[in-house]
Amino acid sequence: MTSRIIPIAPITRTIPLSGKVNFDGRHWIDSRGRPLRDLRISVTDRCNFRCRYCMPKEKFENNPRFLSHTEILSFEEIERLSKIFVSHGVEKIRLTGGEPLLRRGIENLIKKLSSLKTPEDKAVDIALTTNGSALTAKAEALKKAGLKRITVSLDTLDPNTYEELNDVKFPLKRTLDGIETAISVGIPSVKINVVVKRGVNDQSFIDIAKHFRGTDVIVRFIEFMDVGTSNEWRLEDVVPSRELVKVISSEFPIEPLDPNYPGEVAVRWRYLDGSGEIGFISSITEPFCSQCSRLRLSVDGKVYKCLFATEGFDLKQMLRGGASDEEIAEAVGRIWSTRDEHYSEIRTQITADGLNRNKIEMSAIGG
Ligand code: SAM
Ligand code: SF4
Ligand code: SF4
Repeated sequence: MTSRIIPIAPITRTIPLSGKVNFDGRHWIDSRGRPLRDLRISVTDRCNFRCRYCMPKEKFENNPRFLSHTEILSFEEIERLSKIFVSHGVEKIRLTGGEPLLRRGIENLIKKLSSLKTPEDKAVDIALTTNGSALTAKAEALKKAGLKRITVSLDTLDPNTYEELNDVKFPLKRTLDGIETAISVGIPSVKINVVVKRGVNDQSFIDIAKHFRGTDVIVRFIEFMDVGTSNEWRLEDVVPSRELVKVISSEFPIEPLDPNYPGEVAVRWRYLDGSGEIGFISSITEPFCSQCSRLRLSVDGKVYKCLFATEGFDLKQMLRGGASDEEIAEAVGRIWSTRDEHYSEIRTQITADGLNRNKIEMSAIGG
């Protein structure tokens, strides 16, 4: 099969030069009244896995669109942008990708970001999402750099299925060892992300819940999403979270918990016998757009107002063109102030069209 070139940045929009900036003195506020609190930064578009729901092999093999070192933001550029965001209300930064642990010296970036303070002098909450493949080697350095929260993606505990899912025969044991290392070096919060797909792991997802029950590790089950254009998403392949809740509670009774903070993506549940917490991220069946406070910064320095965006705004051009921090802040404020995105709430109305939209790939902006 021939490879198709993936349009990783579908449309680049010019930064608006005029327009109102809606800032309430603490946060930028979008056109639906949502504050910008949360920034996701993709530090690489490359990955050593080829998960079918994200970077299917036939579409990403020898992909000529992977970016060169000079095209991606440097750590200094990421740090400068992060400072601007934090001084305008961002409280959380998640590093993702691609596979963020493939970016050389990622711990140096984490160290820099961990020292950022909000205007109230609070530390910024820095988290990282990883496939876990390099965690055994990297966990100690990440911890030393100040990383407090890590999420590892793990969709099955069956060794053969795991190798099939990552599609590069990466052994399950090495990822499990990585998770153990993250716990043993003392990274305070370790979570697991499980994407559940019909016919793939909908019969075995409970094994992961069982494995981590009774530990501090929180497992979160994610509905398979129609991100990008390469993963051949079909509604029939989505397993609604309510189905998972039913299966888990028939074996281990659970009850819902209040969110930790407004806009929390995962709906939290706890085991009634006190053996811990699990979560469900139900972007398809229970959209949470009304609370969505996230902006995404792609590896090549564009900001995207939604995970399902078809256009990004080029901050790299401003950074490298000599813009001041104030000018960049003003530009981001204008971009956020016009934000009306709520794709998951209107997905069903636009599904036919939506699936054909030139959406950005998840590997370029992160989950
Ligand atoms: N490579 C890292 C990893 O896998 O954790 C970070 C990037 S990955 C794009 C971030 C998260 O997105 C992972 O937890 C992954 O399972 C999830 N993800 C990727 N494609 C998805 C899809 N189509 N639907 C739901 N989640 C998806
Ligand atoms: Fe790589 Fe993560 Fe995408 Fe899998 S989900 S292909 S590990 S970026
Ligand atoms: Fe946020 Fe877009 Fe997801 Fe809605 S669809 S929750 S606006 S990222």
